[in-house]
Order: sequence, then structure tokens, then C-alpha cells
Amino acid sequence: MKLYEYMGKEIFLREGIAVPRGRVFHSSEGVAEYVAKLGAVVVKSQILSGGRGKNGGIRFAATPGEAEKTAGELLNSFVKDFSVQSVLVEEQLTIEREYYLAITVDGAVGKPLIIASTYGGVNIEDVAEEFIVKMHVDVHAGVQPYLGREVARRMGLAPGDMKQFAAFLCKIYELFRKYDAELVEINPLVVCGGSMLAADAKITLDHDALYRVPHWIPRVETRNQRELSAAEIGISFVELGGEIGVMANGAGITMATLDIINHFGGTPKNFMDAGGGASIEATAKALELLLSSNPKAVLINIFGGITRCDDVARAFVQVKEKMELDVPIVFRLCGTNEQFGVDILEQHGILAFKTIQEAVANVLELAQGRR
Ligand code: GDP
Ligand code: MN
Repeated sequence: MKLYEYMGKEIFLREGIAVPRGRVFHSSEGVAEYVAKLGAVVVKSQILSGGRGKNGGIRFAATPGEAEKTAGELLNSFVKDFSVQSVLVEEQLTIEREYYLAITVDGAVGKPLIIASTYGGVNIEDVAEEFIVKMHVDVHAGVQPYLGREVARRMGLAPGDMKQFAAFLCKIYELFRKYDAELVEINPLVVCGGSMLAADAKITLDHDALYRVPHWIPRVETRNQRELSAAEIGISFVELGGEIGVMANGAGITMATLDIINHFGGTPKNFMDAGGGASIEATAKALELLLSSNPKAVLINIFGGITRCDDVARAFVQVKEKMELDVPIVFRLCGTNEQFGVDILEQHGILAFKTIQEAVANVLELAQGRR
């Protein structure tokens, strides 16, 4: 579960990690009074995405009136397609240096991984590998000050910042463990007037450990409208951001389908696991949702077991008769009632492939034609 920046900063504050003075607002009411006590401020849109700075989501204000106006403009606006429901109003910092610091889980190695760089404030993906320090943590030893100093030394940190950084890293690691985090990212970690502060906070908690999370942390709804509508009809749907819309019938086959698309050089836009034995009605609704996400092409991969291939074909026909389909749709049908399904699709001019390789190659070709 991703947390909003202001929640992350509340955790930091409770765990003794310095953050700028600030307060969250859900409406612009009271912003001016608050800012009168702070002076110049930064008004930060609270969305579950980074890159706000580059997309107009971080604004500066010099006076209480300006701050209130800015908060009003940001609230209910859209930043990077996210609706802004709250803003964090913080004292403006005079930043001397910006660093990057994160702890995440390296699943391949089975250890927490520290990622740090003196190139803070920008996308870590854009920083050259040689300027990024990565060190695994032995969970039995934890992060001790010597490890913090070692990370700082490898980063080439200003000598005056080393001790503070080491202490900072120890606290971040403690928090990472205590809250069952999957990611704690501070970008930028700043130095102002000689003190180190977390100017941003990105925390993701392990969904399976949420029952251990303290009650004062609200459950954050991270699903978008389409994902919520899918959940209402009992179907899991996840947005990914690539090009191909994917529907399959079961968690395993769905994941395999994504892998095969990637293997052939494509990118899934989303995936929908219609599960086994969904009704024709539910499948049709699911398909409509999938199509509404505007994919370049759609791949439907059905291995009929409990699910009957002809039911899926009938659901598709239902949707086709109801709405204008201007996106290429490719089927792979195999298993229960396969031939019935293939025949139904054929009557509607749709080719169904028997193997996933053929279907993926075909769907990628069709998507390419629409770029
Ligand atoms: P992100 O773009 O979503 O990661 O949002 P950040 O919270 O990281 O803010 C974007 C950038 O704005 C930061 O990298 C800083 O360089 C800058 N920034 C944020 N707060 C302040 C501030 O109080 N003072 C100054 N001078 N810059 C700030
Ligand atoms: Mn940031």
C-alpha cells in the first residue's frame, strides 16, 4: 500500500526523522492563517506518484494569500492524471545540497537494499550507474553506524554530512523494519543550514502485513476507478501502463501471458484475471472495462478448464454487438469447448489462435500498426 507524502512524513516525525514544518489541508480553508506563522511556503499536491515537481504539482508561495490561492488551484485539479484531494503546505527550505536515499527489498537476493546517491532531486532512473551506491543489508546485523558511514564514503558525501547521514540511514532502516515497508524513498534528502531533512517521503507498505500497521495510518485506496469497477464484479484488474490490454482466466496464466508479451518485446497496458467459471454477463462487463482503458490492441488468452471457450466467445459477441470496436482483438483459445468458441468467433470475423506464441506475435504486429 502506497502512502501519501504527508503520511510518510508523519511516520518520519514519530520516528525521530527530521522533516520540514508543515500541515496537510483537504480544502484551502485555514491555509492563509497557517502560512502567516510559517512565512514563504511550498504547496505540494498529494498524489500517489512522483514527478510532481516536473508536472506542476509543487508550487511555491511567498504570502498567506498566495498560498491559499495556490492551494485552491491545486485542490481538485489533476496532476499527472491523479485527482488532487489534499495538499501539504510546508515551510520553504533554502536547499544547500540534495541527496537520494532509499531502502527497498531486493527479492532476487532476499535482502533489503540501500540505494543512495549524491545526485538527489532527480529521477534516480536518470542517474548514471557509477553515481549510485547500492548495498545489501544483513538482516541479522541490521544497519549499524559503520554501514551508514561506508555508504556515505562510497557516495563521496561531503565530510561534514557523513555522521548525520549515517544516523539518518540507521533510523530509516529501523522504520523500514518496524512498519513492514517494501520501499522507503527520500528524494531529495536535503541539507539546509547544516541540518539534514527529508524533503520528500515515499513509503510503500507490504500489503500482506497491513494487519500489523498501527491504526492511525489510514488505509489508502490505491486503485483507480476502472480497477474499483472491476473489483465490484469480482474480477481483478490492474493497470500497468504499456500498450496491450490483457485478459486471461486465472492468476498463473495471466502472469505467464504478461511474461510472454514482454518476451516478444511488447508491453502490457493492464491485465484482467477473469478467473475460472465467470458468467457470460460478468465476462462481457469485464471486457467492456478492458476496452474502455483504450489499449492499442487486446489479447485474450483462455485455457478452458472450468471456463468454457464458447462462453468467452459469446461474451465477446455480446460486447461487439453493443459497442463500436475499433481496436484489434486477438484470441488464443484452447481447452473446453474450444471448437465451439473458435466457430463463434469465426462467424464474427475474428481469428482465434491455438498457441499463445502465435497470438502474441499477431497482437504485437497489430499494435505496431496503430502506433
Ligand atoms: P516529486 O517531484 O514528486 O518527487 O516532489 P518533491 O517533493 O521531491 O519536490 C520536487 C522538487 O522540488 C524537489 O526535488 C526539490 O528540488 C524542490 N523542492 C521541494 N520542496 C522545496 C523547498 O521547500 N524549497 C526548495 N528550494 N525546493 C523545494
Ligand atoms: Mn521527490
